[in-house]
Amino acid sequence: MDRQKGIDVMFDPKSIAVIGASATKGKLGNDVMRNLIDSGFGGRIYPVNPKAGEILGHQAYRAVNDIASDVDMAVIVIPAKYVLTVVKQCAEKEVKALVIITAGFKEIGHEGAEAEKEIAKVAEEHGMVMLGPNCLGIINTHAPYNASFSAGTPSKGTIAFASQSGALMTGILDWSLMERIGFSKFVSLGNKAQLDEADLIQAFGRDPDSTFVLLYIESVVDGRKFMDVCKKVVQKKPIFVIKSGVSQAGARAASSHTGSLAGSDTAYDTAFKQSGVSRATSMAELFDIANVFDDMHLPAGNQVAIITNAGGPGIITTDACEAHGLEIAELSQNTVELLREELPPAAAVYNPIDALGTAQPEDYALCTEAALRDEKVDSVLVLVTPQAMTKETETAQVIVESHKKYPDKPLLAVFMGGNSMVYPRIVLTDGGIPVFDFPERAVNALAELYQYVLNRDSVKDESIPKYKADTDRVKEIIQEVREDERRVLLGSEAHAIAECYGIPVAKIRLATSAEEATAKAEELGYPVVLKIASPDIVHKSDIGGIKVGLKTPREVEAAFLEIVENARKHMPKAIIYGVDVQEMAEEGKELIIGCSRDVQFGPLIMFGAGGIFVNYLKDIAFRLAPMTRSDASELMKETKIGTLLEGVRGEPPSDIVAIQDTILRISQLVTDFEEIVELDINPAFAYEKGKGVSAVDVKITIGGEK
Ligand code: ADP
Ligand code: MG
Repeated sequence: MDRQKGIDVMFDPKSIAVIGASATKGKLGNDVMRNLIDSGFGGRIYPVNPKAGEILGHQAYRAVNDIASDVDMAVIVIPAKYVLTVVKQCAEKEVKALVIITAGFKEIGHEGAEAEKEIAKVAEEHGMVMLGPNCLGIINTHAPYNASFSAGTPSKGTIAFASQSGALMTGILDWSLMERIGFSKFVSLGNKAQLDEADLIQAFGRDPDSTFVLLYIESVVDGRKFMDVCKKVVQKKPIFVIKSGVSQAGARAASSHTGSLAGSDTAYDTAFKQSGVSRATSMAELFDIANVFDDMHLPAGNQVAIITNAGGPGIITTDACEAHGLEIAELSQNTVELLREELPPAAAVYNPIDALGTAQPEDYALCTEAALRDEKVDSVLVLVTPQAMTKETETAQVIVESHKKYPDKPLLAVFMGGNSMVYPRIVLTDGGIPVFDFPERAVNALAELYQYVLNRDSVKDESIPKYKADTDRVKEIIQEVREDERRVLLGSEAHAIAECYGIPVAKIRLATSAEEATAKAEELGYPVVLKIASPDIVHKSDIGGIKVGLKTPREVEAAFLEIVENARKHMPKAIIYGVDVQEMAEEGKELIIGCSRDVQFGPLIMFGAGGIFVNYLKDIAFRLAPMTRSDASELMKETKIGTLLEGVRGEPPSDIVAIQDTILRISQLVTDFEEIVELDINPAFAYEKGKGVSAVDVKITIGGEK
């Protein structure tokens, strides 16, 4: 069966068998049974236990095969060593979905991992979907059912949540009950032996009961699949993720700039960004965001109205908005006039609107509704501080009423204070209005709401450009390098590969003697550059391995000898293949374009300010390959050099399209050739619009044979 169809059954089964059900309190099999019964599951419940009899009022069966009717889903809570047998029985019984709660698999080591693979294989072969093992279970508040051993069931809501950590889920569940936040689905992923985060995100995307996807993950199983699924789902609903744990650095040598500048988490960050997924930086933030997204409409833009009864908090909120890319709306004339008429003369009627410490509930209603009506305002933040005359609870009530009248605009409340605010906050929460203790968190959550709108619109369904390339020649070069038992390509080889993909390079020729160098220089035309050619010398200028601007045969000869001598002196062990003779390129803006490889996500492309100061400037940004032209464009815009290239202070703009092409060609090259583990072009000179680019230093490292 198709996985997504299987998940549909899992989300809404007509019958559930609990294999390992128990009548004894304190056993997981008892918790699962009780949760299932208490959750009001309307379908058939079949406890399975070798002792048979009756469990919590339901007839128990010795084995799943003993059940006469069909079983849609089986929850498995038995010791690990029996799981495989039981999964096979489920296959025979034609069970469609498995939830394996049992622990003791991959997480305990090699043997467990093997057992887990075997179970997943059986499930796969028989078209069963499978959650876990080593998970808490699954809850659907709409079906409804709770097929987990959680303490309590979340309230019904619209947030779909999948988590790689069961313990964290129980924490969130408990918190959500206190905060009155509802969930639609609550899925514990466990070891992800079969169903992974991408499968669930895809299902959440189709699920009419879910409007918001929340994810806690430590790793992604299949980077490409994850990105493809997320790109589609974010068009319909936001995806927020908390990602913890440091990813494996993978095949990353520290020799290239790209390799050393990409942090261990860069690929994840990039993947999220590139597929429209928002990343929460802390659990607290994730909670705030969940709070705001639950039931809220999205803002059409970034114009915010602030309403307050005290000056200080209004200013703090204004600052926070500005720091988060939100703007303080200029209120329309109507609004200003209305407020001027109705509020006391001392009140501030421009944004932030200060209704003064004496503000009564009706003043708040007036201001809130005026702001919600104003078409120049995209969202509203209402701040209340407990002053002598403040009626906190009534104020909360009128805000709820105002929201009901104008439900389409996001409305967030900040009720600053302690004891006096406890009850008003409940009123707001129950009225569907997210409420915060302090302005900064409210602003941050609102900014995330707006950021989602931007993310969604930035992920375009655009094709990957395909350039003509001489892949055969690239294969040959790689083969030659392997035969020479090298990993690092010589400059001439790396440049040749770049040329096969149409990347403009300064022509380069290897010379093994001074005479040959002058011959090659004649061939290329003066002036030329000489560079040491050795796989052991990565940073050539550091050891005096470069001479630029050579104009005569005599200069070339002298430079040849000097470079070789410098290399021998500074790196006596380096194997020297000769000296590369290269065309002198006209100077332009120095760029770095590179690639390193991530285990989960594949080729990670870097772009930024190039030259010898890359490590200090760190003006760089990343995207995962393959890339679209929009990806390339955004990648460039993320850096400061990207802005310079567009032309500033009267300078003519650079050849942006040619730079994008170069990035995209590299993206295609490293996608086609997995054996390229690292690639660095530093620098490539960028010229004025229409004059293209020229790569003068191309470095490539290949991995071992597969
Ligand atoms: P490395 O990075 O190994 O030290 P490069 O080949 O990048 O060596 O050369 C160092 C610097 O020399 C470059 O940043 C560039 O400014 C200059 N350079 C190198 N090759 C050329 C060339 N063909 N034309 C003009 N300038 C060059
Ligand atoms: Mg260089």
